[in-house]
Amino acid sequence: MLSLADALARVLAAAGPTHATVRTGLVDALGAVLAEDVLAHLAVPGDDNSAMDGYALRAADAARPLRVSQRMAAGDAPGVALAPGTAARIFTGAVVPPGADAVVMQENCLEVDGVVTVSGAVSPGQNIRPRGQDIAIGSTVIARGRVLRPQDLGLLASVGRSAVQVYRPLRVAVLSTGDELVEPGGTLRAGGIYNSNRYTLAGLVRSLGMVFVDGGIVPDDPAATGRALAAAAETADCVITSGGVSVGEEDHVKAQVERLGQLDLWRLAIKPGKPLAFGRIGATPFIGLPGNPTSVFVTFCLVARPFLLRLQGASEPPPPRLQAAAAFEVDKPGLRQDYLRVSLSATSAGLQATPFPNQSSGVLSSVSHSNALAVIPPGTIVARGDSVEVMLLDLLA
Ligand code: AMP
Ligand code: MG
Repeated sequence: MLSLADALARVLAAAGPTHATVRTGLVDALGAVLAEDVLAHLAVPGDDNSAMDGYALRAADAARPLRVSQRMAAGDAPGVALAPGTAARIFTGAVVPPGADAVVMQENCLEVDGVVTVSGAVSPGQNIRPRGQDIAIGSTVIARGRVLRPQDLGLLASVGRSAVQVYRPLRVAVLSTGDELVEPGGTLRAGGIYNSNRYTLAGLVRSLGMVFVDGGIVPDDPAATGRALAAAAETADCVITSGGVSVGEEDHVKAQVERLGQLDLWRLAIKPGKPLAFGRIGATPFIGLPGNPTSVFVTFCLVARPFLLRLQGASEPPPPRLQAAAAFEVDKPGLRQDYLRVSLSATSAGLQATPFPNQSSGVLSSVSHSNALAVIPPGTIVARGDSVEVMLLDLLA
């Protein structure tokens, strides 16, 4: 059996990044991978400005009544220097006049007949947002490789960018193998099951900002499997199958990929999700996931996801892991690393992980009704209350 770390290392080593880039308007760049280092051609904020509605003054003058000599609102062009012994009426976001070194919030000021008196201590710099405190001119705003999140779009906009260069989204073909499969919406025949993997995988691919290319259902037949794989490899940047990679007589994916390209078949030391195939069809990378719906989800998140992100040009750190108290026991040490589907809840004693009652790899409810995976290393037993490592599904899928 191959450890997950070894499998990941092999898979990532094979992922040459795609270099095609496209210029994209900011709103449409959500979820895409930035393909340029964005540098700041201006400072943010561009001027020292007020963090409050109030009065701008010299801190040293604060003890005496000050004539209000000017008024600055957000959007006003920088004004004249503050005359000594006076204050400026100022509003949040307005440029602080040269000479002023503090802003006192209006709640601490009393203005009568154009003269303001302030109460309380005033220290230089207070309530002033200095030029460049968010972004210094010439600095890297966001480096190439970032998967753009909403706040990243905002940050890019703050330096004036309306479009960015991103990597062209990968086209990921998904094929579901199995004679038993029926598309939802169709009539279920005796012995048939609805194809759920196609939808799980479509969602996973799209949540990575990639294009889901539907390869449909592939019957358990060597010729049909070969044709479907070859056609998918023509149009996609990566081909992913579910099912058909075990060693049963009805599992044709392995032989067909070997015929069309090259393939490694691994017995991954993780649970759920033992059989996993990796290779290429022609030059197109290929990942053969297991068939069981829960194994599909887990192996996609743990192996296919990092591979696809690397192929897409992303340089994201692996998702952080948390610690939670086990609301369960593991009394028999396992041979494989177990990824229990758990619900994390916040208790007064910290995070607690409660497993879904049925952890069978065929039970997709265990994923749908959970929000995290608890990682139980091989050879480990767990007592109730022990600290275990957990991975949030929201950061994986
Ligand atoms: P296989 O690896 O092809 O032997 O499939 C393992 C198990 O996963 C079998 O019970 C299949 O019926 C099931 N399975 C395979 N593909 C799908 C799918 N697309 N949707 C739901 N279940 C599937
Ligand atoms: Mg099958």
